[in-house]
Amino acid sequence: MSSPIETPPSQTTPDLAQANSPPQEVELSVVIPVYHEAENILPLCLRLLPVLGEITSAFEILFVDDGSADATLAIVRAANGRDSRIQAISFSRNFGKEIAIAAGLDHARGKAVIIMDADLQHPPEVIPLFVKRWREGNVMVYGQRTDRRGESKMKRSFTAAFYRLFARFGETRLPEGAGDFRLIDRRGVEVLRSLGERARFSKGLYAWIGFPSVGVPFQVENRHAGATKWSFRRLFRFAFDGLTSFSTVPLRVWTYLGLLISAGSIGTAIFFLLRTAIVGSDVPGYPSLIISVMFFSGVQLMSLGMIGEYVGRIFAEVKRRPLYVVAETIGERAEIPPMRDERRRLA
Ligand code: UDP
Ligand code: MG
Repeated sequence: MSSPIETPPSQTTPDLAQANSPPQEVELSVVIPVYHEAENILPLCLRLLPVLGEITSAFEILFVDDGSADATLAIVRAANGRDSRIQAISFSRNFGKEIAIAAGLDHARGKAVIIMDADLQHPPEVIPLFVKRWREGNVMVYGQRTDRRGESKMKRSFTAAFYRLFARFGETRLPEGAGDFRLIDRRGVEVLRSLGERARFSKGLYAWIGFPSVGVPFQVENRHAGATKWSFRRLFRFAFDGLTSFSTVPLRVWTYLGLLISAGSIGTAIFFLLRTAIVGSDVPGYPSLIISVMFFSGVQLMSLGMIGEYVGRIFAEVKRRPLYVVAETIGERAEIPPMRDERRRLA
């Protein structure tokens, strides 16, 4: 009778192990978050495939379906039937683009991972340049928008204001015009995967990890089909997440403001005291009283709100929920890497 300890765990399912013979090395992975992009999948693949084929045959295109309710996943499945290098993971619901990117990085197998949008705003023809720069030794190669045509005026001015704020107060420097369109070497991918943050602001994380990086200018094209998924509310939330995860200035600024106001109120008190002593009091101080009460309750509420923002963030982080839930995978994805928290426990 053999002891169960002698059986290595990998041999418990020999059939499965044989069916999933070790996958060939993947040179390049292209991660594409998709949310209601049915009309864009095929045009994108048609432009992407020849470009990637020129670079290497060992590539994979990994769509991360962010809970689309339209034909997006069905179209990817059909595309996978034609070319098995087109694959997908599908979320159980909409988790947001940032998390879709995180999932893409978790599941990509390439030595380098390219992240791009599905709407053809990121021209695939730039990818060979990315790869060239990567092979020169850069860990991070990011696309740099040369202009922001195709974006509404409001969004553009909002973005500009955000970058000014971030440059002033953020603890990490963001390169100008760099977005999610980029190539990341395996080393960078592993560092990004090890960051367990829930309020994800990838642009900040990309810059935070460091490593040699370089920008490649490109022209943002117009959206191929469909409409942008970013409402103003969502963008605002995103910008807020970015600022609060990379800066504690919003938390600290209230201390200074409070000091300033207290000093000011002491000055005012002295002024009123002297005036009453010299010229006497005209009206009992009702207006000044009510104004100061309102002013200070306002300040207190604001600072409480600010603290609430960070406390909320701490709450979200300590819950340690998985970042996303995968409902389905398309293509040969035998080993799904462990979830963030499992990995943390193992480490
Ligand atoms: N996206 C996503 N989940 C979302 C919203 C968007 O995966 O909740 C994807 C979308 O399918 C597209 C990319 O993120 O591939 C960029 O989205 P969009 O073009 O709407 O943003 P914009 O280009 O206007 O910034
Ligand atoms: Mg777009």
